[in-house]
Amino acid sequence: SKTPVGFIGLGNMGTPMAQNLLKSGYPVIATDLFPESGKELQDLGAQILDSPADVADKADRIVTMLPSSPNVIEAYTGPHGILKKIKKGTLLIDSSTIDPSVAKEMAVASEKMGAVYMDAPVSGGVGAASLAKLTFMVGGVEQEFNAAKELLGCMGANVVYCGQVGTGQAAKICNNMLLAIGMIGTAETMNLGIRLGLDPALLTQILNMSSGRCWSSDSYNPVPGVMEGVPSANNYLGGFGTTLMAKDLGLAQSTATSTKTAIPLGSLAHQIYRLMCGRGYANKDFSSVFQFLREEEVQ
Ligand code: NAD
Repeated sequence: SKTPVGFIGLGNMGTPMAQNLLKSGYPVIATDLFPESGKELQDLGAQILDSPADVADKADRIVTMLPSSPNVIEAYTGPHGILKKIKKGTLLIDSSTIDPSVAKEMAVASEKMGAVYMDAPVSGGVGAASLAKLTFMVGGVEQEFNAAKELLGCMGANVVYCGQVGTGQAAKICNNMLLAIGMIGTAETMNLGIRLGLDPALLTQILNMSSGRCWSSDSYNPVPGVMEGVPSANNYLGGFGTTLMAKDLGLAQSTATSTKTAIPLGSLAHQIYRLMCGRGYANKDFSSVFQFLREEEVQ
């Protein structure tokens, strides 16, 4: 029988990901800062413990799925963090999207305790998380990749080795910058089309058979009523929070600065999602940029 897998962070993504580990036959030992976040998983048979340290005490493979760099630092190195009770030889896989330099720091801290750390951020959204169709971008020691893939393959359709630790995060930051820009482009296009009198479902159909097609138009359309099973069909609840997208663009911005790279549209997208956070969209899905633009009537 399979040995237990630890899972830390049971939010929009972590919950369905951990469910897929259960479905693949792995006992899951999990925790979240908020005990109520573990309820759904507990009902499916997972054991919920009080802290990351308690999980590390019981499992020698642990996946973390947390919002941002400070949360990962806390869950690893905090007073009740993983590293407090970690066992030698433990495999740590962080699937959060965080600063590549923090990933490198966590790898060094883990190695000091005799553990192996890999960064494995994901793309795909909550729908793909539920269907085990995520794409994982993995950085770390190559000899450990197959061990990571065994678990990640239960939660995703694509598991790609990127290189040394931090390179998974680099790939993810690039992807999300493009996603951020594409979503704003899709939202403003749809808004203009509607104001020009086009039916949004028809315009979507046309875009998706034309050169404007992208993931935001064909799989995650931001206009309510165009598509089912996406956040725009659910008052922009669930999905990928605007604060998280603003966080990812902040990472793009700082890595672009440190590498002397121009990202004019990435920078603009960052400012747009930051503005949204201050106008009540912080906890809504990032596709609510459509609603944000729709409220504007400018001269
Ligand atoms: P979320 O905010 O829904 O969930 C994060 C969970 O982590 C929360 O339940 C929170 O209570 C918990 N948490 C925070 N700090 C903790 C700690 N110290 N110890 C234990 N638990 C802690 O976020 P999410 O949407 O699941 O996203 C998680 C990560 O995945 C983020 O880095 C995000 O950028 C990335 N991501 C999200 C999506 C998406 O569509 N939602 C897609 C790809 C990648």
